[in-house]
Amino acid sequence: MDSTWFCFTWDVPADGYRWLPGRPINQGPRSKPSPYLTRLTTYTDSFLNRRYDAHQVPRSLFRTFTDVPTTEEGILAFANEYGGLGVAEPFQPKVSDVTVVGEPLQGEPFARWQQEIVTMRQLTALWDLCQKKDLEGLARHIRWTDDHGPRTVRYSHSCGEPDEGEVAGTSSDEVVLASPSHHPEWLVQWSPGDVMLPALFYLADEINQHLHFREGMRMMWNPTQKQLALRLPVGTLRDLLWAQFAEAIVSERSFRKCRTCGTWFELMPGLARTNRLFCSEGCRSKLYRTRQEEARRLHGEGKSVKEIAQHLESDVRTIKGWVSSKQ
Ligand SMILES: [Zn+2]
Repeated sequence: MDSTWFCFTWDVPADGYRWLPGRPINQGPRSKPSPYLTRLTTYTDSFLNRRYDAHQVPRSLFRTFTDVPTTEEGILAFANEYGGLGVAEPFQPKVSDVTVVGEPLQGEPFARWQQEIVTMRQLTALWDLCQKKDLEGLARHIRWTDDHGPRTVRYSHSCGEPDEGEVAGTSSDEVVLASPSHHPEWLVQWSPGDVMLPALFYLADEINQHLHFREGMRMMWNPTQKQLALRLPVGTLRDLLWAQFAEAIVSERSFRKCRTCGTWFELMPGLARTNRLFCSEGCRSKLYRTRQEEARRLHGEGKSVKEIAQHLESDVRTIKGWVSSKQ
């Protein structure tokens, strides 16, 4: 049930975006230029633009966003599909041959995109551990110490493994979640050694810093679901993605990535089986066909039915059926 109704419509220009090197307007010409996402043209005839309604985009869009590669190509592909985040700032393009009038231009800094993606990726990963009740996984991020001094609970993103912590503005170092001098009111609510509540408190605190709603929150009638809903107006795509994330947590939504095409989809209790692995029937049968073809190929190479079954994580009987049937 959707008891919230995100209110926001936005346009994606039909001719898309590009990266332009430039500098913040308050910085001198000696500073290093960096890429800004800008509209390809300032052609304003909007009838070709793609219009999105926040209420109609999948609730899994924020998960799609966390998969965006933090490269210029990856971000450009997402922006051409869903539009800018709404974090544009004026900048001075480096190239002198820019023909667009009305300089300085507006653009979304590359570093800002990277930071939004990586932060949301780190936090969704933490939320996945909470949803799975993976206490061992959480214990790699949340640490209690009280051997040498006051009881302190710390969070670290990195788990000691190399990761994307080098992207500017994202948390890679350890942060103190609670101690007698920092959020003592949290500390008293947690049982010593517990990792679940500290993780949830941290999640909420981080997400809160990214939540921005516009004025106009009110209750309204949802005609499709025939129930009252809470209308939440947001102002940018970025705000919508963070609002989706927050709403997914409080509504305990679960998402999964299709095994065939990689699309995120929501697992809806009652509507779709929660053990669903594919976004659609088409993707389900496609993977089935691919596996059959793979089995036949391996069979042709002289692999035994047992070997093929192991390789494809299937059973001997199924593989026998596949390799003996006509193609
Ligand atoms: Zn799929």
